[in-house]
Amino acid sequence: MTTPTLMDYDEALAKYEPVLGIETHIELGTASKMFCGCATGFGAEPNTQVCPVCLGLPGSLPVTNRAAIEGIIKIGLALNCDIVEWCRFARKNYFYPDMPKNYQISQYDEPLCVDGHLEVEVEGETYRIEIERVHMEEDTGKSLHVGGSTGRIHGAEFSLVDYNRAGIPLVEIVTKPIVATGEKAPLVARAYATELRELVRSLGVSDVRMEQGSMRCDVNVSLMPRGAAEWGTRSETKNVNSLRSVERAVRSEIERQAGVLSDGGRVIQETRHFHEDTGRTTSGRSKEEAQDYRYFPEPDLVPMAPSREWVAEIRASLPELPAARRRRIQQEWNLSDLELRDVVNAGAVDLIEATIAHGSDAAAARKWWMNELSRRATEQGVELADLPITPEQVARVQAMIAAGELNDKLARKVFEGVLAGEGGPDEVVAARGLKVVSDDGELSAVIDQVIADNADVADKIRAGKVAAAGALVGAVMKATRGQADAGRARELILEKLGAS
Ligand SMILES: [Zn+2]
Repeated sequence: MTTPTLMDYDEALAKYEPVLGIETHIELGTASKMFCGCATGFGAEPNTQVCPVCLGLPGSLPVTNRAAIEGIIKIGLALNCDIVEWCRFARKNYFYPDMPKNYQISQYDEPLCVDGHLEVEVEGETYRIEIERVHMEEDTGKSLHVGGSTGRIHGAEFSLVDYNRAGIPLVEIVTKPIVATGEKAPLVARAYATELRELVRSLGVSDVRMEQGSMRCDVNVSLMPRGAAEWGTRSETKNVNSLRSVERAVRSEIERQAGVLSDGGRVIQETRHFHEDTGRTTSGRSKEEAQDYRYFPEPDLVPMAPSREWVAEIRASLPELPAARRRRIQQEWNLSDLELRDVVNAGAVDLIEATIAHGSDAAAARKWWMNELSRRATEQGVELADLPITPEQVARVQAMIAAGELNDKLARKVFEGVLAGEGGPDEVVAARGLKVVSDDGELSAVIDQVIADNADVADKIRAGKVAAAGALVGAVMKATRGQADAGRARELILEKLGAS
């Protein structure tokens, strides 16, 4: 195999226009499998969640899981698809050791949900991704190749098969070709996967964990010379398992295919594997000869004909979807487009919303999560949501500020204490002695000292230059190590100097 010459990304985009297609598999979080009653929990001992049906033993018969069908209809409706009135399952025949029946029950020419779309935003621009189809199928088992260095079958000494995953309900979402994205193609692909994950998560039908494989993307990329009318040959990069990898896989394929084409070569239609460590794809299985899966209607299952009443019921039960939610919070929290994007990108929406639910006002909740706490999360290299502080605790700190018991400076020390594991806000305040000094007697003595130390400033204030009071308030804050109530200190200073 020759090493492909990669073309510089900007040069590639100047010469070629990328066309994308994304197929996403999502495992539904139903309690039982698609066609049998086996449990579906992740991480169980191998081959403990199996039965004659999902092992494909002779004489066993599948029965469709109603909860799974409800789940896929939810996804279809949320993606603006039509839900067909009648469709069938089909058998997709091929031999693979992790597929005990030697066929997969899937859907072929009669998918359940068709013709949808999902809007995504990239750098302020909206892209409408057309959805070709959403269909129902069952997952395969998992092969474990032992003894090789890569975990792949090549070089392995032997292989083991775990059928726990075989038969778990799997939804496949297929886009139509995504065109006219230009140099944004990798970002559009990532934005689509991100929005799709948010959407499915909001429906509560899957945990959509890419690192555990409950959401996996196959990314198709082809290039055509700028100005050409005909699409190029596409490659299909399989099972990309993080959002960042979706973006990198598209970028890498654009650079690789541009290199192949400009060297006078041709892009081979094949599946490819993405490697996290190198950020590159390598060749998998050639798809040059169209595979014939000998699809035929599944004889062991009746056709599906979801009643219009049932579909309407499911539609009425849909929760607020992410795009609508973003529009609502933008209005309620009074955010600019940019501020909204920052909040979303920081993963702070749920945290701020929960903080507000515990009594904080929106502006304060956003301020703490987006500034002080985001800074600390970055310092510690963790996600905002993984900081050891709860929205309820942030709301408690804000309540103390509103009651005049803390100022912002002290609040930061409270956050520091909570994050250091010193307890909740009240415990940190008590243990560190962080209460604001607003007791007039105590403040008064400090102010008298400050006035005596700053006689010239005091004279200016007496003469009517009220603005000079800021310097004395600063001195009071310094003298109390930030624990004075600045507003009350100012009032007392002006009172004492006859300027109020
Ligand atoms: Zn089973």
